[in-house]
Amino acid sequence: MSPLLRAARAPGSGLARRLEEIVGSAHVREDAGALLTFSTDATPLERGDPDCVVFPATTEEVAEVLTVANERRIPVVPRGSGTNLSGGTVPHHGGIVLVLTRMNALKEVSSDDLVAVCEPGVRTIELAQAAAAERMLFPPDPGSQTTATLGGNVAECSGGLRALKYGITRDYVLGVEAVLATGEVVRTGGRLVKDVAGYDLSRLLCGSEGTLAVMTELTLRLLPAPEASGTGMAYFPDLADAARAVSRVLASGVLPVTLEFLDQVCIGTVEDYARIGLDTAAGALLIFGQDGDQRSIDADLARMAGACEAEGATQVRIAGSPAEASEVLEARRAALPSLSRLEPLTLLEDATVPRSRIAEMVEYIQEVARRHELKIGTFGHAGDGNLHPTVVLDPADAGAVRRAHVAFAEIFARAIDLGGTITGEHGVGMVKLKYMERQHGPEYLALLRRIKAAFDPNGILNPGKLGS
Ligand SMILES: Cc1cc2nc3c(=O)[nH]c(=O)nc-3n(C[C@H](O)[C@H](O)[C@H](O)COP(=O)(O)OP(=O)(O)OC[C@H]3O[C@@H](n4cnc5c(N)ncnc54)[C@H](O)[C@@H]3O)c2cc1C
Repeated sequence: MSPLLRAARAPGSGLARRLEEIVGSAHVREDAGALLTFSTDATPLERGDPDCVVFPATTEEVAEVLTVANERRIPVVPRGSGTNLSGGTVPHHGGIVLVLTRMNALKEVSSDDLVAVCEPGVRTIELAQAAAAERMLFPPDPGSQTTATLGGNVAECSGGLRALKYGITRDYVLGVEAVLATGEVVRTGGRLVKDVAGYDLSRLLCGSEGTLAVMTELTLRLLPAPEASGTGMAYFPDLADAARAVSRVLASGVLPVTLEFLDQVCIGTVEDYARIGLDTAAGALLIFGQDGDQRSIDADLARMAGACEAEGATQVRIAGSPAEASEVLEARRAALPSLSRLEPLTLLEDATVPRSRIAEMVEYIQEVARRHELKIGTFGHAGDGNLHPTVVLDPADAGAVRRAHVAFAEIFARAIDLGGTITGEHGVGMVKLKYMERQHGPEYLALLRRIKAAFDPNGILNPGKLGS
């Protein structure tokens, strides 16, 4: 047991009573049900028991909780909805799980400044809907948007289907209010698009995975909403053709809002699951989309369809109505659930490569699957090289679990060798910490640890993760 955990559990430490004084007794949980619930997140096979779970309602309460935890050297794991896929909220060192979902006020949606100000527990979909009601757009749209919180999105720097055209969460973070591990409240950035007074600490907090500070208020950039959107799909004999079509689309001067792909395994599983008439003989499926005004959408979709045909697409279809568009997008949305129903355990990863190397990477993933006798389907964001190789297996088969871990180690190594990364959007968490040195080298990791120490001198925030 670590010294931190020993301290947290010391008999007579009165920890829970002290926390109840801060947030109220209804908002501190030590019962077995709560400890079990908050021992895991959406990451399969990762688990750690917390000592208590605390639900603060204000920045001041967060600051007081952190002050107490810091004095007693108790680990604190900030948590939104726990949908992360990298073990980011698993309390491997015990301590306090600090759940920010009570801090869920959407304080402002301003069309004058094109900003939103909110607490971290607001769900992504709530902001997207509030912005849409005022004809604005909050572009980051992770697949988990109905559940995930904006605090979690910023802490993971989440991506989504619109990343190619609109960027990812960090491109929409203008300012952050955050509480340091030592209890001080700091503000970074603000409502301005242009502000270069000092280091860009908002960007540093973005993707910090709960290891540097607890974010208590976010100021986020909005855009005017596009008038409309359109979607199309193209089948290819194999992935290499689809990858060439991606390059041709981008070289044609179109920046699509969506450019997604499914490999042959995924086409088959989606069709089995959703029965939407996909061509299961095809080697790859590309889904493309654009938004804007209707005239430019029509022109861009025609250009993208032309690029696909020029690269050997066997069939191209442009959706003629919103219902048809939704049918096309259903193929992409169904990729994960359709794979998940094949076996009890789904291991979803997000190795990412430069888009010119996608075909090479997917071929390598298929070779790894054959060699390790694993079922791996790959889908993802073709426009930004973000792949989701997904292994499905029976966890009772210990050999298969072991082979899956070896397979992912090989996949990450190849992604790095191709100039890519171990994670395009899901974060490092616990699960991928061991690959960080291979990607970044020891000097980078040493710098990361010095930054961590400056924010969190006693290492109480999410220990065992980034910066450890
Ligand atoms: C079905 C499914 C689909 C998904 N699709 C996508 C996708 O398309 N794109 C994508 O990028 N991700 C995706 N994810 C992963 C996940 O949903 C995102 O990482 C999401 O942003 C996590 O939000 P959360 O509120 O659940 O955060 P949590 O999982 O609770 O926390 C995530 C991290 O943020 C930290 N944290 C949370 N709140 C704060 C705070 N206020 N201050 C400081 N640190 C904090 C935590 O310590 C942890 O390290 C998906 C997950 C699932 C299950």
